Formats: sequence, C-alpha cells, structure tokens
Amino acid sequence: MSHTITLIPGDGIGPEVTAAVVRVLGATGVAIEWQTEVAGAVAVGEHGSPLPERVLESIRRNKVALKGPTETPVGTGHRSINVALRKQLDLYANLRPLRTLPGVKSRYTDVDVVVVRENTEDLYSGLEHVVVPGVVESLKIITERASTRIARFAFEYARAHGRKRITAVHKANIMKLSDGLFLDCCRKVAAGYPEVTYDEMIVDNACMQLVLDPSRFDTLLLENLYGDIVSDLCAGFVGGLGMAPGANIGDDGAVFEAVHGSAPDIAGQDLANPIALLLSGAMMLEHLGETKAATRVREAVNSVLAEGRHVTRDLGGTAGTTEIAEAIAARVSG
Ligand code: ATP
Repeated sequence: MSHTITLIPGDGIGPEVTAAVVRVLGATGVAIEWQTEVAGAVAVGEHGSPLPERVLESIRRNKVALKGPTETPVGTGHRSINVALRKQLDLYANLRPLRTLPGVKSRYTDVDVVVVRENTEDLYSGLEHVVVPGVVESLKIITERASTRIARFAFEYARAHGRKRITAVHKANIMKLSDGLFLDCCRKVAAGYPEVTYDEMIVDNACMQLVLDPSRFDTLLLENLYGDIVSDLCAGFVGGLGMAPGANIGDDGAVFEAVHGSAPDIAGQDLANPIALLLSGAMMLEHLGETKAATRVREAVNSVLAEGRHVTRDLGGTAGTTEIAEAIAARVSG
C-alpha cells in the first residue's frame, strides 16, 4: 500500500535532514508519496504566514507528516509553529524515546527512557498579558480532559511496548491546584493498568535523580513545560539533540519531528546529524504499520554508528549529513 505523507522541510538544517530521511526511507522500498509543504520562517517570505492554511489542510488530509525544524523567534515575532500545529491539529501527545545507541560516546551507557509530554496546554497556552507596566501575567492552564488523555496515552503506550513503570513528574508541592489536578488524573488512569508500576516525583528531584542515574527511569509522564525541559535533559544522556527523535500524536493525525531546533549556526554546511529525524522517520514507519521497514532503518542506524566510520561532528566525527545518509541507505537496501 502506498502512503501519502506531508513533508515539511522547515528552516535552518531542516531541508538537509529531511532530504536525508527521504533518501533512507526511499531505500526501504516502502511506497511513499511525499507532498512537500512550506512552513516556518521560509513560508513568511513565500506565503505571508509561517503556517499557511494549506499546510494544515495537507496534514488533515494525509493524517501523517514528517517535519523538519522551524525557527521560532525569541521574545518577539511570530508564535511557535510547532505549538500552533500541535494545537490546531490537537496533537496532544509528544512522544520522545531516548535510548543509548552503539558507538555513541556519552556519560551513560544504558539509557532507555521514554518521555511522554502533554502538548496542548500548561504555560504554552500563550495567554500572557501586561497587568500594569512592569508586571506581566502568564497563565498556566491545566485541565482534567487534557491530563486524563495524556495519562491514558502513556499507559496505553506502556502496555503496547512492554514498559514496566511510569513516573509522573510534577511540582504539586508548589502548584497545588494545577499540578495537583494533573496528578489526580494520572492516579485515576493508573488504577486501570495494574501491570504498570506508577509513581510520582517532584520535577527538581527528578532532574537530579536522572543525572545521577538515568537507567533507573523507564517512562516519564509530564505536563508541557516540564516535558520540554526534561526531554532535552534526557537527549543529553544519549549523545545530544542530534540523537533525539520525537512524534506528536493526536486521535486524527501525527507529526514526526526531531527534538532539536533549526540549528542556524550549522545550517547549509552539510554538518547536521540526521539521525534524530531518521529515528523519527522510523517511528513514523511503525505508526504506518511498516514495522519491518522501521526495524531495518533502526538496525542500519545502529550498524553505521557502531562501525564509527560515518559519524557527524556533534558525535566527534567528520562525516557530513549526506555521507551518513548514504551509508545508512546503503545498509537499509543491502
Ligand atoms: P530553536 O529555537 O529552533 O529550538 P536552538 O538554537 O535553541 O533553536 P537547536 O537548533 O536545537 O536549538 O540547537 C542547539 C544546539 O544544538 C546548536 O548548537 C545546534 O548546532 C546543535 N544541534 C541541534 N540539532 C543538531 C543536529 N541535528 N546535528 C548537529 N547539531 C545539532
């Protein structure tokens, strides 16, 4: 069966890493028709908006998208396209599996953590206003509906993937109402999954415990902001942002994208590590039911990394984006 997928190259290193993924997925033999759509800073020039309506329409139609990073101006300018996409398409679950891969130097050797992050509310509500000059309010919205569905997503994921333990990460000692509601919802959902151990940890302690020994953790369940910060922390355990894949999943669609941003400092120089987006591509294949192809991509990535000949600069090597994509594609088709 052929799959039609929306492809968003994005900004900065986006076009380079998406091209690498298209190359490798092409080598699997899975029939994919890519529909390229422009979003991000590049779309402002071409279409007058960073997220043209046609991009949303394309994803609504195809239900699946592969997305390169899009630039978000800090402080001023347009709002984050990622946040807008997740909200508009109600992609409420952000899934980030972070595993130690062979041959990748890092401080830890046996990390296998899955971060499940709520994607639609919390301090990402975008509700900020000036109360009086010099005083600003930013609203943290937590709802029973969103907390319950992300908790259910995490437990269903754990059940389907044989994960044994879920740790809800919070700051309910300070934010008693908002994080308290989040925990209440997690506890209620947890009661329906007796085969999965459920526990809770305050976010600052969780960060410290993670740094001491990430192998003690299995699946983390977090609100939006804690999830954002903790997933970057966990990316650091497995070799950095170039190694951290992700997916944004809703009931009606899914957008697969790496954790990293547009990395303008290395854009256009064939220096970007495409593995994070490649592993996101493998997650996408699995989502499409192409499990064998997903496994072949992962095995090819592992084999190229273990060999250590084609490694990008962020991992201590000198290979370019294109070289590593070709090496992985050759193993996928061979
Ligand atoms: P954004 O606001 O879009 O998240 P950012 O600059 O804050 O952008 P990143 O773009 O993720 O964050 O980059 C952080 C650092 O990690 C940069 O030095 C960048 O070069 C590096 N980096 C990010 N992604 C990759 C990658 N795929 N390969 C190599 N280095 C990367």
